[in-house]
Amino acid sequence: MTVSEQALVSRASLVFRRLGPRVRVAFCQLPLTAFVVVAVTTQLPAAGATAPWGLIIGLGLQIVLGIACLAVPWERLRDNAPLAIPLLDLVSIWILRNGEGQIVGVGNLAVFPVIWLAASTMRAAWVLPLSILAPLAIALPNLLSGLPNPTPGQVTGTIVLPLGMFTVAIAIRAAGAGLRTQARELERQRQQLRGLLDQAQTAERLLAAIFDAVDTGIVALSEDARPLRANRRFLSLLEDAGVTDGLMGSNLADLPLRMQDGRTPVSPDQHPFRRAADREPLHGEVFWLGGGDSARALSVRSLPLDGPNGGAVATFDDVTDLMRAVDAKAELVRTVAHEFRSPLTSVLGHVELVLDDPGLSQPAASRLGVAHASAERLLRLATDLLASSSERLPVSPVPTDLAETLLERAESAQLAAKAARIRIDVDVEDPLPAQADPFRIGQAVDNLLSNAIKYSPSGGTVTLSAHTDDGWITIGVADTGMGIRPEDQPRVFERFFRSDAARRAHIPGMGLGLAITRMIAERHGGELDFESEPERGSLFTLRIPAPS
Ligand code: ADP
Repeated sequence: MTVSEQALVSRASLVFRRLGPRVRVAFCQLPLTAFVVVAVTTQLPAAGATAPWGLIIGLGLQIVLGIACLAVPWERLRDNAPLAIPLLDLVSIWILRNGEGQIVGVGNLAVFPVIWLAASTMRAAWVLPLSILAPLAIALPNLLSGLPNPTPGQVTGTIVLPLGMFTVAIAIRAAGAGLRTQARELERQRQQLRGLLDQAQTAERLLAAIFDAVDTGIVALSEDARPLRANRRFLSLLEDAGVTDGLMGSNLADLPLRMQDGRTPVSPDQHPFRRAADREPLHGEVFWLGGGDSARALSVRSLPLDGPNGGAVATFDDVTDLMRAVDAKAELVRTVAHEFRSPLTSVLGHVELVLDDPGLSQPAASRLGVAHASAERLLRLATDLLASSSERLPVSPVPTDLAETLLERAESAQLAAKAARIRIDVDVEDPLPAQADPFRIGQAVDNLLSNAIKYSPSGGTVTLSAHTDDGWITIGVADTGMGIRPEDQPRVFERFFRSDAARRAHIPGMGLGLAITRMIAERHGGELDFESEPERGSLFTLRIPAPS
């Protein structure tokens, strides 16, 4: 076949495949049925009053086959089920050729079913013998009827018909060999695809069941923060918070949220949906959604999606009860600390008055001195508790020279340092102009110095340094002490956190100092950082913006 013929054949077979199976089968069959109807109806008048049975049965079978082509739901049957039609066509041609009222020359119509069978996906081992044996069966009775002296026409007819049909079948098989291989390959790929599709559908159903069964809200976001898919829990969390309307089509970064304090609205660049869609991983930050009693606190995690389209998967845990319990605990601590402060201040005032009495005996004065120191410690504790459990740590920055504050704090730490046999080195830029609250910065440096002394063995050195650089004032407190283990480092700023090492060594403390110090740094628009190595020491760095 030439290239253009091949193109024509493959275009024809494409058109043919696009037709529905019933139309396709009818298209193959109806020319033969039409031929038979015409041939038989032209014979019937010549047959006289009683129509010969051969013609009637042959014609009837053809009509039934023609109707079957259109009526049978081939698409629901096996692929080669329609091949029953050409096989029955051969039977009907045999009857028309050899039954009563036989039509001479009708055997040539066997070319229709033979072409059909040869062009099908039926194996050559079946098609080729069939294309010779069926026409032979059609032609043979005519030869047998002439025995023992058949006419040359009978002999030729019996040889030519099977050989002609066989040649047609071979030619069609040869022409369609490539197409059939392609068809088989396509069929194999189709089966493979179907298998893969089944597997994918099963996996999809399983995932969907797991997705909906978990008690965590999950949503997949596009890169413009629109929800691609969400599980039931996510939708029910939003519903609980009273936010539902038209959500699945909208931009989730427009959802009004509040920060962990429950009051401050989340700014667009802090919005967790925006940040998640921008591929920023989130690790359990808490946001409030909705208002009033139905407000929900959600702990958000997110993981960027791999692939060219970006986006992320975000998960949400309802931590409302936990947040309310934490608030209740902080409120209790605040109240107790507050109630402690007034009586303690009064105790201290009265003890100081008694201590000022010149007639006080030495033993009584020393006992009262111990009571005074203990009351002072309690007051400091109550003050720390109040500061750490309140989000409102008042900070009032004023123009000040921090060098003065720092030198004063180093001086007052000398007493404790001497008692612990620790040297304090000071390397402070003087003057150190700043826009800061000297009382709060002093408090922060006190905490850092007292830690550095507490957590260093005797003989160690603590260095207080401070300088201005690149728009920042950096205050450093370094020690040569026990250091902090890597696994404890992420937790040192947590309220009430104390390392095992600190507890085991019975070093006194409440685990509040660093939390308060960090709060002071942040209220100044700065930050508190540290580096630490176990058994070698730590360096805490407090940075605040330098005045411009
Ligand atoms: P406290 O000192 O009262 O326990 P902090 O909040 O000041 O509370 O410190 C928290 C924890 O961090 C401490 O218990 C200790 O384990 C660790 N830590 C803080 N500063 C140092 C330091 N300079 N060296 C070693 N560990 C430290």
